[in-house]
Amino acid sequence: MADSILGDSASLWPAQEQRARSPKNTTMIQKILIANRGEIALRIVRACRELGIKTLAVYSEADVQSLHVQLADEAICIGGPRSADSYLRADRIIAAAEIADVDAIHPGYGFLSENAKFAQQCETCGIKFIGPKSESIRMMGDKAIAKDTVRKAGVPIVPGSDGPIDTEGEAVKIARKIGYPVIIKAVAGGGGRGMRIAHNDVSFAKEYHVARNEAEKAFGNGQVYIEKYIERPRHIEFQILADAHGHTVHLGERDCSVQRRHQKLIEESPSPFLTPSLRKTMGKAAIKAAVAAGYENAGTIEFLVDAKGNFYFIEMNTRIQVEHPVTEEVTGIDLIKQQIRIANGEKLGFDQGDITFTKHAIECRINAEDPARNFTPSPGTIGLYYAPGGHGVRVDSHVYSGYTIPSHYDSMIGKLICFGSTRKIALERSYRALSEYLIRGVKTTIPLQKAIMSDPTFIEGKATTAYMDDFMSRTPPDLFL
Ligand code: ADP
Repeated sequence: MADSILGDSASLWPAQEQRARSPKNTTMIQKILIANRGEIALRIVRACRELGIKTLAVYSEADVQSLHVQLADEAICIGGPRSADSYLRADRIIAAAEIADVDAIHPGYGFLSENAKFAQQCETCGIKFIGPKSESIRMMGDKAIAKDTVRKAGVPIVPGSDGPIDTEGEAVKIARKIGYPVIIKAVAGGGGRGMRIAHNDVSFAKEYHVARNEAEKAFGNGQVYIEKYIERPRHIEFQILADAHGHTVHLGERDCSVQRRHQKLIEESPSPFLTPSLRKTMGKAAIKAAVAAGYENAGTIEFLVDAKGNFYFIEMNTRIQVEHPVTEEVTGIDLIKQQIRIANGEKLGFDQGDITFTKHAIECRINAEDPARNFTPSPGTIGLYYAPGGHGVRVDSHVYSGYTIPSHYDSMIGKLICFGSTRKIALERSYRALSEYLIRGVKTTIPLQKAIMSDPTFIEGKATTAYMDDFMSRTPPDLFL
């Protein structure tokens, strides 16, 4: 186990004692490699501990101090700080899996989680990939094929080009046919990158080239496609679970409309916008989309919903999502354990009718960023760290006092999930918990989240994806200090 500024980790968390107290493992999977870092790696370690499954952490040289490395049963360093030298090195991860003799790999989110080739390599090596089959990842990872697949299954999609467009001339023709405004999106896109909006032929010509260049740089694939730009929609997604025995259910929705630069900042369930009948219709559509992809394991069907309640499929995420705890708190179902059980070949232990939604939950993403400076990342060493607690408060985070946030990765350092029997309670609790949350030494999104929790538009449940731009333009930046 790696050195830690926590001192002798063995004395802080006696591994043998932990193991002695672990429940009896009833799955065939005895040991899991966690091909990720940060809070999600820790989340997976925790689920495995409760299932009595051993864990192997893989980590980069920048993550020696990371909590998941300290808490896993074993840890192997797989390379340098850059993701390309460690968390994206499929060859090293598979080598670590073979050396440590693991049965399965959990990819978390980001990194290799939606890499069909990696999933296939795992399959070839006889290691279970905790996620869907590589064919489903390939199918849903190509946004054009994904849209075509779900459209054929009868799920509404955003009007747009049939697939990638290679010339500007062809692209302008399609944009005119769809009707402005349009959004130009990277075929290989993700994380809100590689998207540009055009309002007329002139802006289209410019944005088309910017989008292609951005996509080439970010994803090594400059192909783009075009969609109708839906104005002021809500982003509402459905959580899916599907076992290997043909049984697919949904676990309700998450409203992720509060986004900055097309990246989610706050997520909640249930959506304050959906009526029971629209929820039912969208839930059925989400299941249809997953079945059309031959889907197995946990996945998310993302929709945009316009003011009239028309909904359109935009993509499927073939992995666990950052915001999965919102669904866990509302349904009481542990999604990581479900993923492991499904990978183990077990049947889902419930039907659609057994899933109940008894709470309201709100998640705030705590990012080391400066909201007053256009969300510039703020890496550095955390001085004091104090996480809130109490009734209805959950914090998923890998950081602690004295932890240095590496500059090489995503700026998210934690998630605060507050829940209660009503939306009002969840809102009040979020504000209270954010007020208690202390992270000294780096800028964070906490003051911004607090301001949002007391903003009338958000409180009234009226936030669309246009909300953040509007909120930032009418809020003095000193509120975020
Ligand atoms: P990514 O895979 O990069 O996350 P998505 O397709 O999931 O991209 O879209 C991310 C966000 O971008 C959506 O939640 C929404 O805010 C915005 N967006 C995407 N497509 C459209 C569209 N056709 N019209 C309006 N907004 C869109």
